[in-house]
Amino acid sequence: MRKPFVAGNWKMNKTAAEAATLVGAMLPELDKIDAVEIVLCPPATAVPAVSGLVKGSKVGVGTQNLHWEESGAFTGELSPAMVAEFCGYVIIGHSERRAYFAETDETVNKKVKAALAHGLTPIMCVGETLEENEAGRTNEVVVGQVKADMAGLSAEEAAKVVVAYEPIWAIGTGKAASGDLANKVIFETIRVPLKEMFGSAAAEAVRVLYGGSVKGSNAAEFFGQAEIDGALVGGASLKAEDFLAIVKAA
Ligand code: 13P
Repeated sequence: MRKPFVAGNWKMNKTAAEAATLVGAMLPELDKIDAVEIVLCPPATAVPAVSGLVKGSKVGVGTQNLHWEESGAFTGELSPAMVAEFCGYVIIGHSERRAYFAETDETVNKKVKAALAHGLTPIMCVGETLEENEAGRTNEVVVGQVKADMAGLSAEEAAKVVVAYEPIWAIGTGKAASGDLANKVIFETIRVPLKEMFGSAAAEAVRVLYGGSVKGSNAAEFFGQAEIDGALVGGASLKAEDFLAIVKAA
């Protein structure tokens, strides 16, 4: 039985002061929820403040990226140890990083391995563009990402990864995939390939999230699907009442 998982990806929103206000508004309610693993992923500058505020609660914290090297001349980057000092989680390979910051399956794979080596839980993102979707290439694209991004992991490591299926056409557009469609894509392009790569036990242990225009009003439709274990939430994670509504639906 996989524990439901809901993460908020705040993207490039909230100063540290604004982050503290948002956490203050929702932490008492979030901390009452035992059945869901809840993770907040603020921008890096707000991570120390948020991690201090959630200390002693059941809520976890993640960054939105990391570099795979241990240290060195990599201006602007955060090492896995720097992330692990404050966080238990890290988002890796978000489509915005792939599209705007030249992330590739190769760098995603290095980052996933580095995160695991430092005891961080990777929230690894995959998903097809609108063009790929309309060309009927969804399965080929997502299977290719899963295989390349998780290449070389042991079954034990693979079981710890949280995979987020985020169709790019559904991100920030208000046009979410239907629960049925997301469930089918996740089964065919994530669960089945994971089984082939790592065996049934590991594949069944991996939490798979849906992301893309998740809101309080559609969250239950996703959480009711057999293959969907939670959500990676963008816009709706920036308001306490919206994020709480989603977590409560899980
Ligand atoms: P929205 O929920 O704003 O569509 O963003 C989804 C997302 O990209 C989460 O990582």
